[in-house]
Amino acid sequence: MEAFSNLDFSELLKGYASTTAIVMLIIIVIQYLRKQPEAPRGLQLLMGGFFSLIIAQTIPFFRFFSSSDIFTFFELAFICLASVMFLTSGLMLKRVRAATEALAYVLFALTLLITVYVIFISDAPHLKFLVYYLALAIGYLFLAIGFATRSNKKQNYGFFLTALVFFLLTIYNLLMITGWGRNTIGSTNFVFALYFFLSITMLLCGNNLLNLKIFNLEDEVLANQSRFRLIIQSSPFPIIISRLRDDRLILVNQKAKELLNVDSEKLTDYKLGDFFADATFKTELMTRLEKSSEIEEFEVLIKPQNGLQEEETWVQLSTHVIDFEYEIALYSAVQDITERKRKEMELFNEATRDSLTNAYTRRFFEELATKEIQRSVRYGRPFCLLMIDADHFKNVNDTYGHSVGDKVLKELVCTCTRILRKSDIISRFGGEEFLVLLPEISILNAQIVADRLRIAISETPVKGDNGEDVHFTVSIGMVPSSYSTDLQELIKASDEALYVAKNSGRNRVVALTPQEEKEDYLQENNQKISHEIPLNANKIEPTNAQQTENLNDVDIFS
Ligand code: GH3
Ligand code: MG
Ligand code: MG
Repeated sequence: MEAFSNLDFSELLKGYASTTAIVMLIIIVIQYLRKQPEAPRGLQLLMGGFFSLIIAQTIPFFRFFSSSDIFTFFELAFICLASVMFLTSGLMLKRVRAATEALAYVLFALTLLITVYVIFISDAPHLKFLVYYLALAIGYLFLAIGFATRSNKKQNYGFFLTALVFFLLTIYNLLMITGWGRNTIGSTNFVFALYFFLSITMLLCGNNLLNLKIFNLEDEVLANQSRFRLIIQSSPFPIIISRLRDDRLILVNQKAKELLNVDSEKLTDYKLGDFFADATFKTELMTRLEKSSEIEEFEVLIKPQNGLQEEETWVQLSTHVIDFEYEIALYSAVQDITERKRKEMELFNEATRDSLTNAYTRRFFEELATKEIQRSVRYGRPFCLLMIDADHFKNVNDTYGHSVGDKVLKELVCTCTRILRKSDIISRFGGEEFLVLLPEISILNAQIVADRLRIAISETPVKGDNGEDVHFTVSIGMVPSSYSTDLQELIKASDEALYVAKNSGRNRVVALTPQEEKEDYLQENNQKISHEIPLNANKIEPTNAQQTENLNDVDIFS
């Protein structure tokens, strides 16, 4: 960049080629910078400035053909243009927004006027040098300031070094005005070295911009995380976020904290599944999650942990698998449906239970019993059917009144519930008659159970209106599942057995027992049971002709 010098052509070409090449490299680097995310404004003007510089450097070649001042004018004009572009770019880098564009036009017009004066009016040759180098020095100074302003963020050493190189270029141009050291620092090699450093430091700027993008993204992620947490915390219904891999809680909002009764400091001590009242809920949830990452309306009974509030709550979960703070998590929005469940249960009980005794209604019993028969057939499991009838119940009503009669019926069912297993199905068949299905039991064991029940009932009096004990007894007719696979036939058979019990004196159990079962049982329990089950009881005609030879009725006396 030997301005206005009278070097020979080859010398000029050598200097021109090296500086143009390196300036082109700088332009390419600026172009790369412009494509970076977070690229600052003003880089386009910076590029424009360097283009102007190349054009300005090309003009001296024309002087070999003509010594007209017009070439010097254009050379200086392009240097001024470059300077104005550098200055504006520096302002933009410094984020000075106000009037930079207008300022650029004004400055360019002004420098053009100065150039016209210097070239065509004034005769002083050193003025050309002054304008040339001063313009560049000012442009580079603004760039140094612009880049330095950007270097105050984390890891922006690229911007800092670029600012430094621009500052050196400023100094260089100022020194060129004074003429000090022109022979050493004014050499092409020195400028080449400075521009070479500039291209490297600008590449570092690209690296800084990438880092900046990463920092910004991290900030954004953190901001999104806290925004998401805030949304969850301020939700009007309970929200639980648990880790999918180990089921541990990660985040619960205030509502969920109250529902589960957990300490938010030790959230990861708790597992979501621990709050389910029954382990089958967890299994079902996991099975459904294997099929879909979204589950709507999953009803589950929740029990709070270690709390004073031991009340279980029915909730409906709306569950989604989400990506939460670098973990695969389960987002569960919770809706309390206890009240709805209670009403449903009430309606269910009203529809399926007898209002006086709370035993199942005959209709619901038939439904349950049909299922039990199907299960028994499929798995070859035995069950027994009992028909229980209060003895001389009319007398109870007549003697103690209807209300005492009602008490007797209630007490009868209470005793059944107390003596029998939870899985046994107790129903009111009608009036003072009850049907009970005992699943998973042989007829001979069922006889023992039925007799225990009969005794318990006879030993559980109710209070009459005057406080007196009202004792009552029942007669029981029973039939094993092997008798028939038809419920109505089984009921009919148990009724017939009951009829025998009534006719043989009441307060007793009569069973229709297939002969084979009885013999097997007697073999196993020989002495022990022989006095309990006489084999010579009344004969009952079974309804199923095929089973006639296998069945006998048995009267049991304790
Ligand atoms: P048995 O030993 O032969 O069974 O004689 P029983 O008197 O128990 O039989 P019966 O069929 O003659 O009488 C049944 C009585 O049960 C008649 C009816 O008034 C009474 N009863 C039916 N339902 C109810 C009820 O809900 N409450 C009361 N208190 N009595 C009822
Ligand atoms: Mg009766
Ligand atoms: Mg009756």
